[in-house]
Amino acid sequence: STPAAITSGLAAATRQGALIKGGAALEQLALIETVALDKTGTLTEGKPEVTDVFVLNDTSEKELLSLAAAVEEGSHHPLAQAILTRAKESNPLPMTAQNRCALAGSGVEGVVSGSKVQVLAPVRVAEPVLTQETRAQITDWESTGKTVVVVLKDQTAIGLIAMQDRLRDDAVDALQKLKALGVSAVMLTGDNPRAAKTIADRLGIEFRAGLLPADKVSAVTALNAVKPVAMVGDGINDAPAMKAATIGIAMGSGTDVALETADAALTHNRLSGLAQMISLSRATRANIR
Ligand code: ADP
Ligand code: MG
Repeated sequence: STPAAITSGLAAATRQGALIKGGAALEQLALIETVALDKTGTLTEGKPEVTDVFVLNDTSEKELLSLAAAVEEGSHHPLAQAILTRAKESNPLPMTAQNRCALAGSGVEGVVSGSKVQVLAPVRVAEPVLTQETRAQITDWESTGKTVVVVLKDQTAIGLIAMQDRLRDDAVDALQKLKALGVSAVMLTGDNPRAAKTIADRLGIEFRAGLLPADKVSAVTALNAVKPVAMVGDGINDAPAMKAATIGIAMGSGTDVALETADAALTHNRLSGLAQMISLSRATRANIR
């Protein structure tokens, strides 16, 4: 191969807002036929806002938000940030949680004043804990693209918090550019299937939802066995899937773990850098041959 072609390819990528970590990554990018993308923080801005708060079992809204905020404190998850922001606005009694613990892809839990408090994805909540009516409310919100979490105190549901994130401005355009290159895209998310479908439909791509981090790995491994896959993500929970792919690509705003694991990164979070990276690597390969 000619190192000059690779060096100039890497430099061109950098100018376009795509950081490619070395010649091997550049060459592999040329082979990519499928791009798998995380939803939250990758296709969306990853800055959800609380849209609805719904109390259950005689809990006050302030208590609900105080308890949820106590267990979310210190978490870098986008949903945690949304809950903490909303809690601050309602001026709650400050509460602190002991033994806080993140449940990857499911939620978070801790002990507040002797009670076990959990903030969980509805699918992780045992069937009898929620009434049919409450489940219907959750389904309604999810069908409009919202993410809903259930707050529990000692295994009793005390409320629901609904949040909404925004698609990145360039997401639709970036996926159209990939399509033009003959690259297919699939969204992989830990979020609920209804919210996932709303977003995937807007983007015109396929999706797999309700995935735990290990399920993202299996999904990428299966896809990668058929055609070389690039996995794009931002979170700690995406890092194993990025490793399982032919190429791992991190968002510029991604967590340190994602950025370290990645073979390439989208600086300034420019999703259109994906199609540019692939075009460039194909052109570089053609130059080498
Ligand atoms: P994604 O694949 O969209 O980045 P995650 O795997 O991080 O999503 O999370 C999947 C689901 O688990 C979320 O939609 C949410 O319901 C729940 N969850 C994860 N972490 C938290 C948290 N800190 N607080 C509340 N819910 C959480
Ligand atoms: Mg994410």
